Amino acid sequence: HPGFEYTIDSILNTPVTAELVDRSDCIFHLAAAVGVKLIVESPVQTIETNIKGTENILDLAGKKRKKTIIFSTSEVYGKSSKIPFSEEDDLVMGSTTRGRWSYACSKAIDEFLALAYWKEKKLPTTVIRLFNTVGPRQTGRYGMVIPTFVRQALEGKPLTVYGDGNQTRCFCHVRDVIQAVYQVSGEDKALGQVYNIGTDEEISILDLARRVISITGSSSQIEIIPYSEAYEEGFEDMLKRRPDLSKIKKLIGYEPQCDLDRIIRDVVGYEKDQRDR
Ligand code: UDP
Repeated sequence: HPGFEYTIDSILNTPVTAELVDRSDCIFHLAAAVGVKLIVESPVQTIETNIKGTENILDLAGKKRKKTIIFSTSEVYGKSSKIPFSEEDDLVMGSTTRGRWSYACSKAIDEFLALAYWKEKKLPTTVIRLFNTVGPRQTGRYGMVIPTFVRQALEGKPLTVYGDGNQTRCFCHVRDVIQAVYQVSGEDKALGQVYNIGTDEEISILDLARRVISITGSSSQIEIIPYSEAYEEGFEDMLKRRPDLSKIKKLIGYEPQCDLDRIIRDVVGYEKDQRDR
């Protein structure tokens, strides 16, 4: 796009961020430390980036009253066993001695702060809780399961299923997410609100591994790896994570278009392209 510009820097760099905020009509704040592997391995970086970074964005946006969409995560629902997760539900965090939950807590603070800016300073802001968002160009570096499985399948290596593989997730194509976010950003009714965005098509990680093997036609095997080896001793996973999508449906008539097979095919296409280069 002729108007596209890309500045590579940190949201913690206030002069640069202030200038970009000044020039924007709407801020989509996605910069964060993400990925369970990164969170477990670098908790200080996770907590500081997520809390200080969002504080910085909200402070700068607040001064100029710039509309700001804050991206949060389904991780904030934590260990809640209530399915599906809806926006008004309680958040159930694990102990502070389990590093994983620092991510959920840092994002929950971001949400509180955004809603506080709306309430106290009338900053036009909306919070979006993304469920597992996937698609071409996603890095597998921080543990994300679909790019990891696709690469393993294409290389004929075993697909590494953590735990017993019965944990489930709902994967949403980044295309559907972007379309929804863009629509939300144009809705005044969304200000001061929190919305789940994702799909409610649920699959176990073991079945996901089988599906990737079948779509790629790979001869890879499935390897079951205990959580203590994959992450660290005492690691707690979320067993289920399915969104209640009624609120976002009511707002924008949201209906995701891409199913899981399309997602996997798109990621396979991208990964093959990368390998052919
Ligand atoms: N997972 C797995 N093998 C991998 C990477 C992840 O079995 O190589 C599992 C992980 O333990 C979790 C699920 O897949 O239960 C989704 O992981 P991801 O990191 O993609 O997202 P999360 O939902 O944990 O944020």
